[in-house]
Amino acid sequence: MIAIHAQGIVKDFPGGEGPVRVLHGIDLALPAGELIMLIGPSGCGKTTLLSILSGTLSATAGEVSVLDTPITRLSDADLVRFRRRNIGFIFQQYNLLPALTAAENAAVALIADGMAPSPARNKAAAVLNRLGMADHVDKLPRQLSGGQQQRVAIARALVHSPRLIVCDEPTAALDATTGHTVMELLRTVATDAERCVLVVTHDNRIFNFADRVIEMEDGRIRNASALAA
Ligand code: ADP
Ligand code: MG
Repeated sequence: MIAIHAQGIVKDFPGGEGPVRVLHGIDLALPAGELIMLIGPSGCGKTTLLSILSGTLSATAGEVSVLDTPITRLSDADLVRFRRRNIGFIFQQYNLLPALTAAENAAVALIADGMAPSPARNKAAAVLNRLGMADHVDKLPRQLSGGQQQRVAIARALVHSPRLIVCDEPTAALDATTGHTVMELLRTVATDAERCVLVVTHDNRIFNFADRVIEMEDGRIRNASALAA
């Protein structure tokens, strides 16, 4: 099964002397059941591509399907709903809410989708337990280390069982050991045949966790294994 299908993705950003082309017509077919890494030098367009593939940024041209849904054709409201149900986001900045406990932070997506706070919190606590955070569910972000905060952010991204998990530089702020633990968690998640984990990184300490590596350079894909179909 193909998790992400992209055809002819072009992205222009406005610049002082007219539009600047940042993505030059990208084609991808990424299978489910894999941890896929998108690598390349700073500024080559990784975050821009990840944002388009996950429906948080619109493309100048091209089509994207995620899990057989053509997201580039959805209305804004349908796209928001699709993202909320099907995609989990993990970033370098954990963006935890400082006044909420770990379990409450991890429960946010469930509550946004209409679940009552108490069962949502219990479900989030169960995900945190699986991530080795059983002793920390009632702590506030400032009482947690960086690696623990990133686990809360991972729990928040996984709590609604999304089929696509997108991560932008998830280990950039972590030491090597914690970064490895985080990647092992993501690997475990990715082995589910129905799921796809897409990780943007330029952290060469974690390249060996990938099932498939897509290399980008100047807004283009450099290697053919990005076309799995
Ligand atoms: P990467 O994640 O690989 O470091 P990005 O996708 O963030 O690269 O950026 C690719 C290029 O697009 C860079 O030259 C960056 O300056 C430019 N860019 C990114 N976002 C914007 C924006 N909102 N407006 C204008 N230029 C942007
Ligand atoms: Mg980036």
